[in-house]
Amino acid sequence: MSNEALRAKLEEILAPKEIFRARRDHHARRRPRPCGFTIHVGYGCPHACLYCYIDEMGFSFSRPEPYPLSGYGIAYALLNNRHFIPGRDGSLIAIGSVSEPFHPLLVKRTVEFLEAADRFLRNPTQFSTKQFIDEGLAGRMASLKLPINPLITIVTVEKLGVLEPRAPPLEVRLKTIENLSNAGLKPMVFVRPIIPGVTDVEARVIGELAASHGAVGAVIGTLRVTRRIIERLSKVMDVGPILRRLKRTPRPGEQLAIRGADLKTRVREELEQAGLKVFDQACVANAYNAQTYPACYRMNRCRNCILDKLLGKPTET
Ligand code: SF4
Ligand code: SF4
Repeated sequence: MSNEALRAKLEEILAPKEIFRARRDHHARRRPRPCGFTIHVGYGCPHACLYCYIDEMGFSFSRPEPYPLSGYGIAYALLNNRHFIPGRDGSLIAIGSVSEPFHPLLVKRTVEFLEAADRFLRNPTQFSTKQFIDEGLAGRMASLKLPINPLITIVTVEKLGVLEPRAPPLEVRLKTIENLSNAGLKPMVFVRPIIPGVTDVEARVIGELAASHGAVGAVIGTLRVTRRIIERLSKVMDVGPILRRLKRTPRPGEQLAIRGADLKTRVREELEQAGLKVFDQACVANAYNAQTYPACYRMNRCRNCILDKLLGKPTET
């Protein structure tokens, strides 16, 4: 169905005020990021992980606020975005970039969006979370036809209470993996950011724990730092291994990725040894989970994309 036809269907159920707001919303204008269209179901996250940069993007580490549009309104906004292509082989969607989508104050909005996406979009949809997802909610998500790629973040076992002091504990995340797996979804462990001297050392344990609770894969990624993140981390750990991997000190407000190719290789090997399928890019994991070649691949394929190695050559690109 065309964007126009899908918009018309949503206009039948949305109030005129929300239609007006959705057309002006940033979801209706933004270009996709490398991981796809990032969906904001809310703003802010109280977990305040020490390596997180949302505070420097203008979001707070306090009580999160649900997004002002409903899940249906966000779906409608996307359909107004000229860069967005609906459907399983359309644009990739990622939820969870500037908030924790399953925080009790945001979960309603997240589920609303998933249901709206199931009814009107059907795009490959990925979320990342550290929150508890119970059996009921896992079953509800698994019952949707929407291809969902759940990522559950674990970057440390030993230092979780230090680096993520306000986030849900390890047992909660493992139970989330188990519930999603038992419901029929294919959860993956999100090992991002790899914190030098921590995540690389613990990767095997992380992989084994995740696999034994039902994870089928892992998405890995390097650390990005700002001055403020370095300051916070320096209070609880030796940041020497991080600083040595930076080409220079970040300027105020600047985010810099550390050099981490060797770390990624090591973490990848350890996670594979634990029996997980490992992805360097979240977008590839999302498309692989949906078993599809998304619009980004067909229209503007990245040189380093390995989807064809995973899925076999597409018949038409
Ligand atoms: S849970 Fe995610 S969004 Fe929230 S503070 Fe931690 S890293 Fe940031
Ligand atoms: S072409 Fe491949 S690597 Fe590039 S954004 Fe799409 S899925 Fe990701």
